[in-house]
Amino acid sequence: MINLNVFRKSLLDKLLMNPRIVRAEGNLLYTDTNEVIRDYLSQYGALPFGHNPSFAIGALQDHLLHRRPVFTQPIFQTATEELAELLGRLTGGQFSRCTFTNSGAEAVEAAIKLARFRTGRTAVLSVVNSFHGKTQAALAATGSERYAVRQLKDDLLYKKIRINDFDALDAELRTNQYAAFIVEPIQGEGGMYVAQEEWLRHAVTASRESGTLLIFDEVQTGLGRTGSMTIASEFGITPDVLLLAKALGGGVVPTGALLYTDRAWSLEFDRKHSSTFANNGLAAAASLAVLKELERDDCAVLAHVREISRQVDEHCAELGRLYPGVFSWRGRGLMRALQFRDACAHNNYLVNYMNNSGSLAWVICSFLMQQHNMLTVPLLSDPGSIRFEPPLNLCKSDIRDFFEAAGEVGGLIANGRYDHLMAPLIGKSRTSLSVDSLRLAVSDPALPMAPDSLMMSNDRKQGKKFAFLMHATSIPDLIRSMPLSVRKNFNGLEQQRLAELFMEVGAVDSKPEVALRFAVSNEMNSADGIMITSPISPEDMLRLPAAEKRDLMKAYLDIARREGAEVIGLGAYTSVITRGGHAIQDEVHDLTLTTGNSLTAMSTAQVVLEIARHNLIGLTVSVIGARGSVGKLVVSELAHWCDDIILVGRAGSEAAVFEDVLQVLCSIALGNHQHAQRGSVMDRIRRIAERHREEPMGVLSESDPSDCDAAVTLLRRILIGEALRDLGLVAVSDYQSALNRSDYIISATSEGKPFLRTRYVKNGAVVVDAARPFDFVVDDGFQGELVEGGLVQQPNPNVYGDCNMVGCPVGVNLACLSETIVLALSRAEGHYSIGKSIPYKEARKILILAEAYGFSPVKKSVATEVV
Ligand code: PLP
Repeated sequence: MINLNVFRKSLLDKLLMNPRIVRAEGNLLYTDTNEVIRDYLSQYGALPFGHNPSFAIGALQDHLLHRRPVFTQPIFQTATEELAELLGRLTGGQFSRCTFTNSGAEAVEAAIKLARFRTGRTAVLSVVNSFHGKTQAALAATGSERYAVRQLKDDLLYKKIRINDFDALDAELRTNQYAAFIVEPIQGEGGMYVAQEEWLRHAVTASRESGTLLIFDEVQTGLGRTGSMTIASEFGITPDVLLLAKALGGGVVPTGALLYTDRAWSLEFDRKHSSTFANNGLAAAASLAVLKELERDDCAVLAHVREISRQVDEHCAELGRLYPGVFSWRGRGLMRALQFRDACAHNNYLVNYMNNSGSLAWVICSFLMQQHNMLTVPLLSDPGSIRFEPPLNLCKSDIRDFFEAAGEVGGLIANGRYDHLMAPLIGKSRTSLSVDSLRLAVSDPALPMAPDSLMMSNDRKQGKKFAFLMHATSIPDLIRSMPLSVRKNFNGLEQQRLAELFMEVGAVDSKPEVALRFAVSNEMNSADGIMITSPISPEDMLRLPAAEKRDLMKAYLDIARREGAEVIGLGAYTSVITRGGHAIQDEVHDLTLTTGNSLTAMSTAQVVLEIARHNLIGLTVSVIGARGSVGKLVVSELAHWCDDIILVGRAGSEAAVFEDVLQVLCSIALGNHQHAQRGSVMDRIRRIAERHREEPMGVLSESDPSDCDAAVTLLRRILIGEALRDLGLVAVSDYQSALNRSDYIISATSEGKPFLRTRYVKNGAVVVDAARPFDFVVDDGFQGELVEGGLVQQPNPNVYGDCNMVGCPVGVNLACLSETIVLALSRAEGHYSIGKSIPYKEARKILILAEAYGFSPVKKSVATEVV
């Protein structure tokens, strides 16, 4: 089977927005299940008279029936000549030249080529947020970041200025280096931003004075969308080149055109430019029919557009009045961006993320299709906006109905009723949802939230701004972050289905965005922070090909930089896919970076010590994932207290795990003088080292033998040679028997899913699970204690979002986040906790620093719903 645009199809399928259309007529789409959908998108504004208008079909039939020429190049055809003539007249009579193309992007390409030939220059000036199509030059001129292609980005050749910025326009054009200034009078895909008439008028004179060609891209605005033939003719402006496409094909043929003046004409362009299918008779017949329809009855269609546009203005104003802070709009005529935002969602990860990433707009579009049989899509380059571009001949009742539905959406968002908005996504009937107390807070109002920096007293010392990169690591985490109305009114299975859906969408579109803004403080210091999240699951993240992992990390880091973060914390699997931060160290050499693994490991070990009251001699401790950075540090710490440690790893890796850990322990034994319990693994290693230190010429007697590879290797060799059996350290791969023998089990793998069962754990044993998602599945009848590792009590009662990240109690958060915060509060420089082998000394320093800033390891027992 051939895959046709997998990304778009998967996304539409997941959002239930991909019905099978079997017939299309006017503004109606008929599906194979006999649904009728009203089309308010009209192929991104390309259907002036809806689908398959009779007059256009008639023109095509007539053309073909009479065997009129379609493709006769190089010989000219009457239809194309007649069309060029009519286009010239309808666009104001100032253009003397015409070239046909097959699409809007091809018209843009041709216009840029024309300008380069004409002026002998190469640079092109365009506008931030603009959209000009997806071919190479058109895309390079496109100012919308959404479609930017790194390989085409060339800020010298294709410079962008802000819309309506007179000074920037003057400053750039005055350099006399631009072949063309290309501008949409209303930016379509970029967010329906309207260029001021005066600015456009100024562009005419400024371009002329600088020898630059002014190109009006009216591919979308042209031929009726705002109630005039073109915006240029409406304003009485003549650009050097005018581009048309979309509506010109009448919804039945793809076509486009450039109209230009004598000033713009170039003999070289004229000689060299052509396109096999452009100039075709059939397209010309359809376009002629479209223009005649637009002209019919004294341009009645245009008058109709102006009238229904006023109706749209009124509806928009009304929604803005009813739902201030939720609804806003931009655009003109039948080109609108309808923006929905939830201003009350600042404490809710999911809604906040949906606001910022644009996925709220997808949820709304799905709702409109499921509940109201209306087709719209988000404006992809303008997060949160819905694209309203119906056919020009839409009737008033269709507009009224649309805005009634949009009003319902506004009401649901304003009242926090995401249960209603999201129910159709999982096929849940809305009739079962209560409406009695319509208004529900988005977040749990009982929870305190992290204050923003404005609320902080300003006598505290300001730390660095930090960004913590995260993603939902499990379905329960995602459920915890749902808005209150969903958590209240969906049953467990429904919540699970919805969470799974978000993760499935995350696998298709994992775009990260800001989910929370806040500030943290202790008595002396404060720092601003943001959480940047993505809906992707750990498993899907691990499955990404290397290049996509890099792209995902780049997207995270771009947002962190955009937000001004100076400290980056790699939460959850952003640490795993960057090999503990290794892979991005160069990219963020100017920022402070941490995986937070030092504090995760040290706080986990401290919790074990606290539960055992520092009394582990004679007990057995298993560490699962001992070769990972967290596991290795946990072993390093517990080796000072424990005389029987089992390192549990994958089958076949036992020897490597053992060697690795032993090397680390030898280095610690030689270099640090921290207290080791008598009889502990560390105590034994130290004693052996001590014995050999007295040997003549021994490298073990160097001033700092821990820094001396030869000393560490020698000690390891001595241990392997003489004392291995007595060390109290073994490596095994048999999980079951290790679990069965152990009094304490510490687990810190990056499996991405639970894979260990408590049924193998002996009664009374303590399991400390530091993995996210958890490594352990809790079986019925578990008689031990299950504790969450890697948690930290912070110096204030903040919570991070209404689910406090992962459902921690007030004032507790993840150790990896705490490490990030501590580095931000202390204005630390450099990179910490990077890679698989974090120096034990560094981890201890982080623990001591965290404690100095008021953060301390904390024990939290896990209810048995962990699974
Ligand atoms: N220019 C503008 C203003 C557009 O809106 C578009 C398409 O949306 C294009 C150019 C590209 O047109 P096409 O998709 O026909 O290549």
